[in-house]
Amino acid sequence: MHCSPAELPELMVTTSPAESHSGEQCENCNAMTPHQITIEIITENEDNSNAAFSREPYRVTECQQCGTTTKQRANNM
Ligand SMILES: [Zn+2]
Repeated sequence: MHCSPAELPELMVTTSPAESHSGEQCENCNAMTPHQITIEIITENEDNSNAAFSREPYRVTECQQCGTTTKQRANNM
């Protein structure tokens, strides 16, 4: 008979994205360095005739060596 409350396994919950170990070219370091990669949805309010707002996903990479962040549009992902 099991009356004890269910034991939840202690999961390693990480808020950082899975690709945090990826190496990418950093222009500042001029070398392949580990980067933290996040996807940000940035609302662009350009004068689109149809939609008032266009939300574009941006891929934000932060060099873990020098802290430089690079944003690039990730439309074609
Ligand atoms: Zn760097």
